Amino acid sequence: MLTIDGSQGEGGGQVLRTSLGLSLVTRTPFRIVKVRAGRARPGLMRQHLTAVKAAAVIGAAEVRGAELGSTELEFRPREVSAGEHTFSVGSAGSATLVFQTVLPALLRTSTPSVLVLEGGTHNPLAPCFDFLERTFLPLLARMGVAAHAVLERPGFYPAGGGRCRIALTPAATLAPLHLLERGELRARRATAIFSAIPFDVARRELAAVQEALGWDAAECVPREMRSSGPGNVLLLELESQHVTEVVTAYGDRGVSAETVAGKAIAEMQTYLAAGVPVGEHLADQLLLPLALAGGGSFRSLAPTLHTKTQLEVIRTFLDIRIDAAAVSEKEWHFEVH
Ligand code: ATP
Repeated sequence: MLTIDGSQGEGGGQVLRTSLGLSLVTRTPFRIVKVRAGRARPGLMRQHLTAVKAAAVIGAAEVRGAELGSTELEFRPREVSAGEHTFSVGSAGSATLVFQTVLPALLRTSTPSVLVLEGGTHNPLAPCFDFLERTFLPLLARMGVAAHAVLERPGFYPAGGGRCRIALTPAATLAPLHLLERGELRARRATAIFSAIPFDVARRELAAVQEALGWDAAECVPREMRSSGPGNVLLLELESQHVTEVVTAYGDRGVSAETVAGKAIAEMQTYLAAGVPVGEHLADQLLLPLALAGGGSFRSLAPTLHTKTQLEVIRTFLDIRIDAAAVSEKEWHFEVH
């Protein structure tokens, strides 16, 4: 049985999720040790446990060690079945990361799936719903996968209670994706989503965006949404011909609206200055679909530790060559052969 060291690289939940996804795709049983050893609270948290259970349901897998806090797990998948499934994190843990776990397997089935995901839909350190909907899924669509996502209710930390629905119709064969240029600029949008907090927070965040990035008032929109608890996220979106980048920053107690906006603005400025199509988070998330397609390439910023870790875990499960090379100080070229 394959043994995965959960402490490698980033040493977080991604090693586990990618291993689960590729175990389902390749039908390789595996054992993972030192789960999330690189984190302050190691082992399976609710979000990771939900991901393990979701993978087990999709792949009719036999699992040992699927308990909160567990740092070791054994996973033996059998037949993967698509269909309609509801997976609930039961806390504000990221529901989109549960989606990330089962996606590889669902891309390889021959029938459509509908996933209802409950938990956090807007979490720092995870793709938010909007990133999934407008950055990630349109790229999968270019690879032949029809995907439609609906946000029914946002879920923020700490209350959670969010819910989204994603319908996927896989392609008979995944087409390679080449994403080397952004293409022409189509739109810029700043959206300050807020729930059960004063409107003034959203107004100040958007004012900071207008001042720092020079975006027009018409491009900066406050959006009040109902959620189970208070929450605030500022989304900055750059829609180009070939890709849409969504960056986020989250409101928090004791943190000023201007400080929150400053974080998102800095990330957007880095992306704007680099001129590459693929932002730092999209890079680690694109590698897996490209590896499953058996080809593709993209230009991005220098690889993060997440991206390097993702490369290692993919190489453990798939016999595939992926090259990552610096083109300049700010720009890297990734190629899946
Ligand atoms: P932990 O490390 O605590 O286990 P985790 O399970 O949340 O946390 P990570 O290993 O940190 O997982 O992986 C987080 C994933 O979320 C990565 O795929 C990363 O690209 C993605 N991500 C993080 N922040 C963003 C963001 N702002 N936008 C889009 N994706 C993001």
